[in-house]
Amino acid sequence: MKDYYEILGVPREASQDDIKKAFRKLARDTHPDANPDDPGAEARFREIAEAYEILSDPQRRAAFDRGEQFGAGDLFSNFGGLDDILQQFFGGGFGGFGGARPRGPQRGSDIGANVDMTLAEAATGVSRKIDVMAPERCPTCVGSGAEPGHDPRRCPTCNGVGQVQVARQTMLGQMMTVTDCSTCRGRGEIIDSPCKSCSGAGRIDAERTLNVEIPAGVDDGTRLRLSGRGGVGERGAPSGDLYVQVRIAPDPNFTRVGNDLLHKITLGLSEAALGKKVAVPLVDGSSTEVDIPAGTQSATVFRLNKQGMPRLQRRGRGDLLIEVDVAVPTDLSAEAEDLLREYAALQGEEPVEARRRRRKRRNR
Ligand SMILES: [Zn+2]
Ligand SMILES: [Zn+2]
Repeated sequence: MKDYYEILGVPREASQDDIKKAFRKLARDTHPDANPDDPGAEARFREIAEAYEILSDPQRRAAFDRGEQFGAGDLFSNFGGLDDILQQFFGGGFGGFGGARPRGPQRGSDIGANVDMTLAEAATGVSRKIDVMAPERCPTCVGSGAEPGHDPRRCPTCNGVGQVQVARQTMLGQMMTVTDCSTCRGRGEIIDSPCKSCSGAGRIDAERTLNVEIPAGVDDGTRLRLSGRGGVGERGAPSGDLYVQVRIAPDPNFTRVGNDLLHKITLGLSEAALGKKVAVPLVDGSSTEVDIPAGTQSATVFRLNKQGMPRLQRRGRGDLLIEVDVAVPTDLSAEAEDLLREYAALQGEEPVEARRRRRKRRNR
């Protein structure tokens, strides 16, 4: 009895995916068309196809695992024949091994552009003009590729489809193969008098200005894809895409943390201890007054709801975080020092002696 696992070179516990991959590789290598001088290729190929037919079907695989035998009539019924298996794997039949790729008009090229903006602009969204050099529809032929007055005509060989079916004799019998039409080279139409401006391509390189809407909420490094705004395709083929890379200049007031904005404030010792009203800038350029309560510690973070960045292409926005830093005074006047020592005495704190500090200062 044949061991189908061995034929495909996969372990008995191989996944369906592994089996598919193994078959695909073996089928390419041993295909009779790829080995025209090897008379044994056809037999090997049939064996591989048979193994795949059994192992790719969970029920048959289970039956095979139980030790059941299969007759010729059991095989290739699922797929409607060997040809169908190959069709499934190789697309357009045996011909190209990998499938004939249509050679119709080329899609337009993608274009990349950078847009520089401020954080405030990113918060509201902005409209920008971008100059790009990219293929544009040829104005002479309006994209058809044909000289005005000489319209392209439908290819008579393929009837405009661009592909033709060809019957081929192979070792496995007659096969229908789909290939590009050689008359129109896969285009489906024939241009007898190509447009002189664009040499029949239907497009020419041109500088143009694109108006681009940058939505609110973009971040530094955000890449926007504006579908169909890139280079124009050949003779009516789809346009490419425009990729816009957003660059946001560092902001003096805010550090962005996702959709939240972080603003740092510094309070004096007494302000942190006694509380303070602080004017905090907002990203739209205005400001708001925030009550910092008495007894605020350094590194405390206050949160202003919905004063951050808008969410990109979603509702809502982030918060504004206000982080407090308490500054310890470093250059006290004699009077301020006296007051602070008085304060220390009241609180029972024990700073170093005044005498020593003063002397140190004089030595500088
Ligand atoms: Zn033209
Ligand atoms: Zn044709």
